[in-house]
Amino acid sequence: MTASNKEKIRKIYETLPKLNCGLCGYGNCGQFAKAVAEGRASPFGCRQNPWSGYRISEIIGAEVPAHGHRFQPAFVSSLLRASSPTMDLKTLREELKEVSQGVDDILARIENLKTRR
Ligand code: SF4
Repeated sequence: MTASNKEKIRKIYETLPKLNCGLCGYGNCGQFAKAVAEGRASPFGCRQNPWSGYRISEIIGAEVPAHGHRFQPAFVSSLLRASSPTMDLKTLREELKEVSQGVDDILARIENLKTRR
């Protein structure tokens, strides 16, 4: 691992809530930070604070549109370019599955809020 990659992981880690809850699919925040730095996870994958993905995207050099980052093909392609030039179709499929799960989470939260009224 290069020094710059270690620095990237450290910076990503600093933006995370550090709850080590595992909801992102990784054992702890450190493992998630490493996966993002290596292009194996989306910068928006933290379930406790997905908005940290904006800062993380800056750290890894991915361009993020101001609104609707999850639905922008340009964002996905910039993420792929920034994170790993060798990201394969399987990884992209996993990224898109994660995006889809994120949308489902948001819709479930909206439904939950509606029922509370
Ligand atoms: S979901 Fe967020 S807080 Fe929980 S382990 Fe993953 S990165 Fe850490």
